[in-house]
Amino acid sequence: MSIDHGRIVEELKETSKPDPARVREVLAKARELKGLDLPDVAVLMRTTDRELVHACYETARFVKREIYGNRIVYFAPLYVSNLCKNDCAYCAFRAENRGLKRKALSKDEILRETESLIEQGHKRVLLVSGEDYPEGGLQYVFDAIDAIYSVRTPKGSIRRVNVNIAPLTLPEFQRLNEHKIGTYQIFQETYHEVSYRGLHPRGPKADYRYRLETVGRAFEAGIADVGVGVLFGLYDWRYEVLALLGHVRALEKSHGLGPHTISVPRIEPAEGSALSARPPYAVTDAEFKKIIAIFRMAVPYTGIILSTRESIPMRRAALDLGVSQISAGSRTAPGGYGEGGSGAQFSLGDTRPLNEVVYDVLKMGHIPSFCTGCYRRGRVGKDFMDLAKPGLIKQHCLPNAMLTFAEYLYDFADPDLSQKGFDVIRVMLEREVVSEPLRVKVGELLRRVRNGERDLYL
Ligand code: SAM
Ligand code: SF4
Repeated sequence: MSIDHGRIVEELKETSKPDPARVREVLAKARELKGLDLPDVAVLMRTTDRELVHACYETARFVKREIYGNRIVYFAPLYVSNLCKNDCAYCAFRAENRGLKRKALSKDEILRETESLIEQGHKRVLLVSGEDYPEGGLQYVFDAIDAIYSVRTPKGSIRRVNVNIAPLTLPEFQRLNEHKIGTYQIFQETYHEVSYRGLHPRGPKADYRYRLETVGRAFEAGIADVGVGVLFGLYDWRYEVLALLGHVRALEKSHGLGPHTISVPRIEPAEGSALSARPPYAVTDAEFKKIIAIFRMAVPYTGIILSTRESIPMRRAALDLGVSQISAGSRTAPGGYGEGGSGAQFSLGDTRPLNEVVYDVLKMGHIPSFCTGCYRRGRVGKDFMDLAKPGLIKQHCLPNAMLTFAEYLYDFADPDLSQKGFDVIRVMLEREVVSEPLRVKVGELLRRVRNGERDLYL
């Protein structure tokens, strides 16, 4: 696995404004929902004409609606530990940041954090950790996953644990896979190798190639859903977009499967990191919107994840441009959902509780989803992609969104949100679920949810 640095540099040499006819040709290709190639993406990145940029946004919106409908999936991170032996220049957890209060949650603390997330209404958790583990090593993470899954409360349980931890070896990934994780996430941070080396001077993470090859090892270990990402602000975003796309295409070629998700974090201020206060290649809001729209068009079947790093207005804009999963009500310190918690990884742009975000997203015309159906039905990796590609995703995901949103409304919403939410579900059932037998089936399942049954999915 390698990134074709020479080819990317060659694509980026052309800096002139593209011919509008060529831009329209690329957008027409994007509407076919088959993705875009590197030269197409290079054209879109050079497009600055207002009208054409607007046309890019419109096309991204079209692609998103066609494939995903109007559902937005929710999750929350659970930071179990901020111990770390790396020294990433942008992160508060880096080993050199001696002032940071270090903490690895005990099993009891993990259980309590999980209960808090369930009380908010969450069903999906992203376990996050620095790259150093208390006694027992990696077993600590495995025990943490089991602990999260073990929590049962009158308000439900966590049904999918995704994981964002340091790269593992093949046998370690095989052990991780035994713990029924959802997606394994790993961000390359920057694909630009020279910059990478400067930003990661010490520790296991200093090995660029080992990190780049992580997705392949995870696939080989049987983990079918893997998430990739770039930490925007470390290097030229144009380089990163082309390189990430190159990474996706290389994985498709070598493993017959691309990533399940792409995350698009932008650097946020982090305690003890001067670089994070002044990112060397800060990405503007306008550029960030373009990045999301381009990813949506270029890899239409891969989910795009946006975290609470972003401000409320940016989160609203991004939903429309192609983001399909968001975190909400997040804290980035171990123990952050309990009494305070200290030692956060970075500061947040959106600190609203989950119910406020749900309300806001609903008002914008999106339906909140807490679905974990695909993963539990075994529709992961290639099976998921095969389902997604002909546009069938809507037939499963939209009904599942309605069912899990109805659960949320019964269990967590105030009367106002509840009324608005059920109005939306009713309209969707009539307008979006076009097949009559499916509509009858979903209507029946919704009645069962109203009668107190939980965890129903297609
Ligand atoms: N320690 C593991 C690693 O680095 O791969 C996994 C967890 S790490 C806490 C998760 C991600 O946080 C990193 O991959 C990085 O992209 C992101 N991150 C680190 N510092 C950040 C900052 N200042 N602002 C935004 N995101 C940051
Ligand atoms: Fe450690 Fe990950 Fe932060 Fe780097 S990004 S310092 S590896 S927690």
